[in-house]
Amino acid sequence: MSLAKRNAVVTGSTSGIGLACARALAKEGANVVINGFGDPAEIEKERAGIAEEFGVTAIYDGADMSKPEEIAAMIARAEQTLGSVDILVNNAGIQFVSPIEEFPIEKWNQILAINLSASFHTIRAATPGMKARRWGRIVNMASAHSLVASPFKAAYVAAKHGLAGLNKTVALELATFGVTANCISPGYVWTPLVERQIPDTMKARNLTREQVIDDVLLQAQPTKQFVTVEQVAALVVFLCSDAAAQITGSNISIDGGWTAA
Ligand code: NAD
Repeated sequence: MSLAKRNAVVTGSTSGIGLACARALAKEGANVVINGFGDPAEIEKERAGIAEEFGVTAIYDGADMSKPEEIAAMIARAEQTLGSVDILVNNAGIQFVSPIEEFPIEKWNQILAINLSASFHTIRAATPGMKARRWGRIVNMASAHSLVASPFKAAYVAAKHGLAGLNKTVALELATFGVTANCISPGYVWTPLVERQIPDTMKARNLTREQVIDDVLLQAQPTKQFVTVEQVAALVVFLCSDAAAQITGSNISIDGGWTAA
């Protein structure tokens, strides 16, 4: 239980990678704030399940990561209720696939808000406490798309490249305060986010579902396998450990070899 008494906020943790991260941190003894959208009964089941299975405090906060005031209020509530925010996992994210000339302006704005600006707002709010306590772990869920591009994902690629830049700046600012900031850059992880973009990619590229999976998604990954949410969560736990105290400002790939090509 290497993270006992640590308090973690994981944004976008009602599903996919974020949920796996919240569960993995709780398994190590951290109290967790889960966040994101979904069916209230399902969310309550997950929250109660984490608290019971791992014997930690688990809180749900429904703050919308596209709204700066709600983000600041979420961090303040977490600090008030749990006493501190020691671990911040900026994971909430959405995707939209479209040729640039048809890319809806509101989708561009929404993706930039949730996939990039939300991390600025959470870090801005959580940093004073981390600096004062001289311990903190910030993990930004970037993507292989923070390092390389793919067509039809203008907003996502721009936001994730931006997140990688934000991460480096924060790491430098906090380097002498015992606070690390790192990006994790997964390749394709089988989650609802990937599943939802299949129909649009079929349309944008005129392909079948199987062709999208084999020729577009896994084509990028030399291992020809999806990354699992548990593998990403295990890396988050490692970055939160004392062994990772000198890893900061990094952007760590977990992408089946995608960005080696
Ligand atoms: P997912 O769709 O399964 O989960 C996304 C989570 O974000 C959900 O809990 C959702 O409710 C939440 N969310 C969405 N909009 C929100 C908002 N406005 N406010 C608060 N919460 C919001 O997606 P996932 O695949 O688990 O993705 C998680 C992160 O990992 C994202 O940042 C994504 O870009 C990144 N990522 C995913 C993959 C992949 O292949 N799945 C690859 C690289 C990076």
